[in-house]
Amino acid sequence: MALLADATSELLIDGKLVPGGAGAFPTLNPATEEVLGTAADADAEDMGRAIGAARRAFDDTDWSRDTELRVRCLRQLQQAMRDHLEELRELTIAEVGAPRMLTSGGQLETPLEDLSFCADTAESYPWSTELGYATPQGIPTNRTIAREAVGVVGAITPWNFPHQINLAKIGPALAAGNTLVLKPAPDTPWAAAVLGELIAGHTDFPPGVVNIVTSSDHAVGALLSRDPRVDMVSFTGSTATGRSVMTDAAATIKKVFLELGGKSAFLVLDDADLAAACSMSAFTAAMHAGQGCAITTRLVVPRAHYDEAVEAAADTMSGLQPGDPNSKRTICGPVISARQRDRVQGYLDLAVAEGGRFACGGGRPADRDTGFFIEPTVVAGLTNDARVAREEIFGPVLTVIAHDGDDDAVRIANDSPYGLSGTVFSGDPERAASAAARMRVGTVNVNGGIWYSADAPFGGYKQSGIGREMGLAGFEEYTEIKVIATMAT
Ligand code: NAD
Repeated sequence: MALLADATSELLIDGKLVPGGAGAFPTLNPATEEVLGTAADADAEDMGRAIGAARRAFDDTDWSRDTELRVRCLRQLQQAMRDHLEELRELTIAEVGAPRMLTSGGQLETPLEDLSFCADTAESYPWSTELGYATPQGIPTNRTIAREAVGVVGAITPWNFPHQINLAKIGPALAAGNTLVLKPAPDTPWAAAVLGELIAGHTDFPPGVVNIVTSSDHAVGALLSRDPRVDMVSFTGSTATGRSVMTDAAATIKKVFLELGGKSAFLVLDDADLAAACSMSAFTAAMHAGQGCAITTRLVVPRAHYDEAVEAAADTMSGLQPGDPNSKRTICGPVISARQRDRVQGYLDLAVAEGGRFACGGGRPADRDTGFFIEPTVVAGLTNDARVAREEIFGPVLTVIAHDGDDDAVRIANDSPYGLSGTVFSGDPERAASAAARMRVGTVNVNGGIWYSADAPFGGYKQSGIGREMGLAGFEEYTEIKVIATMAT
């Protein structure tokens, strides 16, 4: 079966692939601006039916108690994705503008293989543990702690790493016994819609357990935060939208899980290999055109070596010109849309207005008048107070900031409304460890270590979110805790 026959996608509601009540909307190739095809455009009624189906599948079937069925279905989905891997790869490059080389990692193959962690966890998880005998208030009692699914999960996702984020919600939510409605970003509907096709055609998921609702209208997604039939909203996206999800969810006291924005710092201490660290920082900031929430976009370097650091970062960035995501050599592809390109350009204009200068880049590449490309850019001459240093840009833009020693570097890293991730480079493991310990962030890379892994929880402090995705902690986000107290006889 070829995916997306006729270059059009459907919704998955109650086990059936159906057209959208509001018709269809185009999906674009951000590297060429060509229309790839269309995606089903759901209306509020479609969303209502999807939520109703998920509610029934949770309340009226054994799904939440049948671990064997859940594990089988998840492994079937994983296998179906493996069987369609090359189609999925081409789709990801075309729709997301993801550089081909990243589809062997975080853009496709890694999250696909990470589904094993969810299935394995469901199999080995201690769903029930004995708290033991006690005599609370003098009553002899045997206590058991049960872990159960939360219920119906509404999952709302962004466009930057759609497979990773869709699967990091679907995997643990379903493995833990929830049912789910996934509402992906309007910029990347196909990445989610193909999961619907694979689920409908290649798995035993009972009707209503997974529903996939693509829509061009953000308001359709917002229904997930408001509908009383939804027990939990799992959201990844901008902090501004996260705030509105939380506000909407407050009316029915839903559990809210948020993975939001970041403005992470890359600290180079004065005993580090400055050139190597700055080069790595620049490389990271240009990858996938900077469209990663955990990318370190503030390079914080010793004041005495500021100019040298800017030069090293600019040297690397100049060599990473934005290119065709189809090419095996491209690291920096397009940003997702004209809107996002204009937003990044607005920040570049702001950098100049704030007194910054470009050590490289600074606008659209001269040789590319189609496609949503932005030059990888190093901004120098600003302090951490500049808006460009404080706000999330989500483009290939690295701001270099001077520090006056380890304490000052940590202070700058923490002087942010966000707290998602960070990096420390130092020649002294103890100094690096001390800085890492003091950073108020959810993940830290020390001297090049990789924190991303199926078994490692990921998430943010402060306005970068609430809760953790992935790892055992990510699985348990999708569970409730029940204490069963039985009077001992
Ligand atoms: P966005 O917040 O605009 O949209 C994210 C999703 O929310 C989309 O599906 C959108 O349709 C939906 N949405 C929009 N308004 C809504 C509302 N009022 N109620 C419910 N849903 C609504 O974000 P984006 O532009 O798609 O993605 C970029 C942002 O996502 C960046 O800020 C980035 O940092 C963040 N992000 C965070 C992580 C993380 O794990 N922390 C991962 C990837 C992206």
